[in-house]
Amino acid sequence: MQQFSGERLSKLGYWRVGGPMEDFALVESVEELVELYPKIRWILGNGSNLLAPDQGLAGLTVRLSLKETEWLPGDRLRAGAGLLNTVLLSRVSRQGLCGLASLAGVPGTVGGAVAMNAGTALGEVAEVLEAVEGVDARGFRSIPREELPMHYREGGLPEGFVVTAAIFRLRREGLEEERQKVNHHLQRRMATQPLDLPSCGSVFRNPPGDHAGRLIESVGLKGWRSGGACISERHANFIVNTGDATANDVMSCIRTAWERVRDHAGVVLVPEVRVLGDWPVEVWPLV
Ligand SMILES: Cc1cc2nc3c(=O)[nH]c(=O)nc-3n(C[C@H](O)[C@H](O)[C@H](O)COP(=O)(O)OP(=O)(O)OC[C@H]3O[C@@H](n4cnc5c(N)ncnc54)[C@H](O)[C@@H]3O)c2cc1C
Repeated sequence: MQQFSGERLSKLGYWRVGGPMEDFALVESVEELVELYPKIRWILGNGSNLLAPDQGLAGLTVRLSLKETEWLPGDRLRAGAGLLNTVLLSRVSRQGLCGLASLAGVPGTVGGAVAMNAGTALGEVAEVLEAVEGVDARGFRSIPREELPMHYREGGLPEGFVVTAAIFRLRREGLEEERQKVNHHLQRRMATQPLDLPSCGSVFRNPPGDHAGRLIESVGLKGWRSGGACISERHANFIVNTGDATANDVMSCIRTAWERVRDHAGVVLVPEVRVLGDWPVEVWPLV
């Protein structure tokens, strides 16, 4: 295990904002995680879907370095929670297998993908997940997919459960068709999303039958700025760091979009981004 003090979230998270972590540990085994568990306050994956305050995070934050993969009988794969999705996808494809198209273009780790039930128009992680392994106050255990109430961008993990690995059920048939769909999907993302600036992807979940980006645009907020943060001109559900944004700037954009859509379009958006840390209720009313 490696431990640090004062490591800044702005160096680790995709938005490039956020203050120091009081204590930060890189955990290298399940045994270490079990030992540290009672002290853990925050879990960090690859930081591609979270916002933490400029004051930083009090207490212990952990990130898992568990990156190993193991092939199991029947085209099943166990992947460590710290493995990057890009590495996972390339290992699956090198075996001539498919099934994880839902993670194409989604930054982050296996742990974050399961916790978020990450996905795209091509599907979501829940569809290929067989089980998760992890640690909570009861110790180490494995939970079958059927016991997780997963839904749109919600992993349904028990409170405080830290994912250490996920088992995916993959398939051989349809590989070429999946490759074509993924290529088309990635081209579309490049054409429609502001991928040249730091962001955390979509900030809000799409409400049933609508798109958060369309709603934010409809209330006139495309291009709205707070300090160095800006509601993207290209895709209004993205908030981008134009260079020197603070976490407060990003939060100000999130809050303005949330309030304006509620007041002018009558829709209460649900954040997709996870807000970590202690935010005053007047700054973030959904704490
Ligand atoms: C440019 C861009 C595009 C994106 N596009 C998409 C998209 O198309 N679809 C999509 O679903 N997401 C998208 N995202 C968001 C993000 O990539 C996903 O939500 C991703 O799954 C988060 O993984 P992470 O490892 O970065 O998790 P983090 O952002 O570090 O954490 C996210 C949440 O998961 C929890 N968590 C992380 N690891 C664990 C663990 N081991 N055990 C328990 N909890 C854990 C964290 O505590 C936090 O609550 C995008 C982000 C960016 C920057």
